Formats: sequence, C-alpha cells, structure tokens
Amino acid sequence: MEKPVFTGKFTQQEPIPEAAIEAAVAVLRSGRLHRYNLIGAEEGEVSALEREFAAYTGAKYALAVASGGYAMGCALRALGVGHGDRVLSNGFTLAPVPGAIASVGAEPVFVETTQALTIDIDDLAAKADATGAKVLLLSHMRGHICDMDRLMEVARAHGLQVIEDCAHTMGAAWRGVPSGRHGVIGCYSTQTYKHMNSGEGGLLVSDDAEVMARAIMLSGSYMLFGRHGAGPSVDHFETVKYETPNVSGRMDHLRAAILRPQLADLPAQVARWNALYRTLEEGLRNLPGVRLIERPPQESIVGSSFQFLLPGWSGEAVRALVAACGARGVELKWFGAAEPVAFTSRYDSWRYAPPQRLPRTDAILAGLIDMRLPLTFSEADVRLIGSIIRDEVMGASRDAVLSC
Ligand SMILES: *Cc1c(COP(=O)(O)O)cnc(C)c1O
Repeated sequence: MEKPVFTGKFTQQEPIPEAAIEAAVAVLRSGRLHRYNLIGAEEGEVSALEREFAAYTGAKYALAVASGGYAMGCALRALGVGHGDRVLSNGFTLAPVPGAIASVGAEPVFVETTQALTIDIDDLAAKADATGAKVLLLSHMRGHICDMDRLMEVARAHGLQVIEDCAHTMGAAWRGVPSGRHGVIGCYSTQTYKHMNSGEGGLLVSDDAEVMARAIMLSGSYMLFGRHGAGPSVDHFETVKYETPNVSGRMDHLRAAILRPQLADLPAQVARWNALYRTLEEGLRNLPGVRLIERPPQESIVGSSFQFLLPGWSGEAVRALVAACGARGVELKWFGAAEPVAFTSRYDSWRYAPPQRLPRTDAILAGLIDMRLPLTFSEADVRLIGSIIRDEVMGASRDAVLSC
C-alpha cells in the first residue's frame, strides 16, 4: 500500500484578515504612513496599537518598533548596556538574540538548557556570579517558559535586570502573568512567522517610566515623545531627551493598521494553535524512542510550534528520520545539525561571541526536533503528520534492531 504523504506547507501562514486589509488601504489612501504624520489630535494607528497592546499585556507603557530584533537591542540600550558588557542569555535560542547583544557591542554569556528546553536556572546563578553580568536577555525559546517565580528570585538575588524575548510567547503566560511582564522589559516580534503578522515589526512593554522614555527616544521620536499615548508623561523626558541617541527603528501606520485587528483576534488564534498542538501531542504519546516535552500546569501555552526529543539517537539516525519524514511531506528541523540551516542554528555557530562550551545544551540539541504548526493546518492535517512521524520512528527502531 502507498504510504500517506502530507501536502501542506509548513511555512504558509493564513491570509491577513479582511478588516486589516481595509485598515491598511485606508492608511495608504491617506498618504500618512509615518507614525508622527498626524492631523491635529488624531491618535494614529501606531499609538492606537501601543495603547491596545499595553492593555492586552497589562503593561503601563508600550512602544511599537521595526522588528523583534530591534526591540531587544533597544531594550539593552535603554538599560544602559554597552561596549564590553556581558549579557547572560539562553544557549538555546535563535540568532537575533545573541545578535541584539552583539549590536550594542556587548558579549553574550550563554546559559545551559534543561530537558524542558528552558534556561537552566542553577547555571544562570553560577554564571551571574562568575561573570558579574547585570542583565539577562531571557529567550522563551519555542514558547517554553521556565519557572518564572524561581527565575525572578534568582535574578533579584544576583541584581540581574531581566529583558524577556517573547517572540514565541506573545499570548502566553506563567501562573496567569502574561509572558513579558515578569522582567523590566518584554520584547515581541510581529514578523510573519510569529503570532501576529506585519511582515516585519516588534513591540516593547514596560512599567518603568525612565526605561520607556529612553526606549522612545532611542526608537527615533524626534522630540515628538508627547505624541505617545502609551508612553510616560513628558516630564520623564526632561534629561533623557538630551542624553539618548536616536537609533531609528519606528513602526509605521501601515503595519500598525494590519496588526490591530490581529491583536483583537489573538485569543481565538491561540485557542486554535493549542488545539493543533494538543492533537499532535496525543498523536505522538507513548512512542518508544521519542520523549515529549511535558508542559507544566503553570504555563499557558501558545502551541505555534512543536518540539520533541530523540534521546540517545545517533546523528545518522536523526538525519535518516528527518529525511524519511521529509520525503512524506513532514518538514522537521533538527537543532543538532553541525551547520546552520535556515532559521536553525546553534550557539557555536555564532562566532562573534566568545567561544563557550555548554555540554548539557549540546546533549539536548543533539536529539531536538522542531516543527512549525501554522494555522493553515487543520486538526486532521496534524493527525496525519503525527501518524507519519509515528510510522517513521517505528520504522527507524525496526531498522536499528535489524542492524544489531
Ligand atoms: C524571530 C525571533 C526574534 C525577533 O526576530 P525579528 O525577526 O527581528 O522580528 C527574537 N527571538 C526569537 C527567539 C525569534 O525567533
């Protein structure tokens, strides 16, 4: 019998909602795309998005910017991180995270990874002691949130300021507190492959008026900070406005217009992602050779991607599984690959950072498989994907037994 093949596309997102298209067309017709190109007391799409995103996350202040990577670099600058400073971060993350640290001339210090794919809090404490670093850029990589209560306790004890990279956790929470609201600044991305899609884009939130005043100046506010409805009052800019360099990275009305209807839809989209995630999780349960990542009850997830571990598998066996699934249309990414491929790269490929060894992270990445779950997939699609992976994993273990 022919083996079933999956024909969906792992990189195909849903279309932009009609309401967003109409709002975008209205901006285009106005000709006023720049965020400060406003008439009279008009709020404008960017400020409206900031106000709505602040309300959504429960933050005092929000700032919309050009990308998630820009949001992180801006956050680091707003905390005063500069040349030669050391910044703690996850050993398992994506390139824009160490890139943001390098962009301010600082040095990333990578922290080990647990079996839950989260930052190793014991290693964090040890490296905070060893390096004297004052800032942690915490990446909630692939949506996995560490024990945020314990992490914040360790951060306080070590005098660490925490910036959260929520590129994969927009809409997620830890014990009811939205991701991005534990540290001093939360950073988000609205790039096409994240939870809202404006092509490129980013957001920052904070409750700290000084920090947000600096972020607004940095983003390129041309002394128009009074036009930020979701920013601190103008008295907070008194000295900041002279001391803060302009590193332009504003968002424009066109992108904000596209994002506002998506923000309104986000809770419903999260529910759809989680239905796909739980369906796939069921399909892969109790599969010998595969270890699933159990999600803690404190975590409210956004299941926009799925990971599992192949503990003890050889590189050759992992490569064979990825190829076999790929031949049946199931696009798996392997974080253990020696060479960086597309979005997937390892900390040792980021050679602008001082060389570091993370044996526990290496062991995890050696068996870590990753897959996107775009909302263009149905639950039936995801059941088929699960059954294909199941088949191929069982086939692989049969081959392993036969070759012994
Ligand atoms: C996508 C991403 C970002 C931000 O990326 P941009 O492409 O700059 O918007 C940050 N961190 C992680 C982990 C990401 O995947």
